[in-house]
Amino acid sequence: MSKIVEISDLRREFVQGDVTIEVLRGINLSVGDGELVALLGPSGSGKSTLLQAIGLLEGGFEGSIRLDNEEVSASSVDRQTEIRREKLGFVYQFHHLLPDFDALENVVLPQLIADAAPDQAEDRAKHLLGKLGLAERLHHRPAKLSGGEQQRVAVARALANRPKLVLADEPTGNLDEHTADIVLGEFMELVRGEGSAAIVATHNERLAAKMDRVFRLHEGVLT
Ligand code: ADP
Ligand code: MG
Repeated sequence: MSKIVEISDLRREFVQGDVTIEVLRGINLSVGDGELVALLGPSGSGKSTLLQAIGLLEGGFEGSIRLDNEEVSASSVDRQTEIRREKLGFVYQFHHLLPDFDALENVVLPQLIADAAPDQAEDRAKHLLGKLGLAERLHHRPAKLSGGEQQRVAVARALANRPKLVLADEPTGNLDEHTADIVLGEFMELVRGEGSAAIVATHNERLAAKMDRVFRLHEGVLT
């Protein structure tokens, strides 16, 4: 299987005054194309820091990050931006939808930014939102949607540009348990249907167990 992510000896430390915290202490991780994995660890264990490294959202890391068979850790800012746009999708704990745009527009806009034709972008947005049960909510703004619906729109947006890899940081962490289960199940089904890979950070053992593999983050290394 070809690898979408290969990380070796990734390290990150934060210095605060005269205290140095080693948050990631030599992470080795590989994820195959189309694989769905969980990143499990308690709050403060470094899950978000690791996803920020893989998502090329932060600097300051040591070690190697290969995305889709390209060494990207030392790539130019422009190349990293291009990789983020072309290959990655993001879902966060809070949806970060644009409040003045409706559900459909929130999923269409990133496609237009990536130069998709407007008709095709709209068809794709409707397809994704329909799969997530939001066919009747296309013209609702985020404030008029429930928490679960808002996260579904965020999921559709993350998949809009057909990313090879979706990075999801506690995507259901803001939802009640029942809704979290449903939304995560829908997310996984959609990601599989699209053939994307995903790394889902969570501190929920039960949700993690639904993925293909579970990586546990403990004292800055994966077990
Ligand atoms: P998680 O997502 O698993 O809750 P984080 O990756 O957010 O963990 O944080 C891991 C550790 O790194 C925590 O101890 C946190 O305080 C520290 N940390 C994260 N970001 C910073 C930062 N920008 N400056 C200093 N310390 C940070
Ligand atoms: Mg976090």
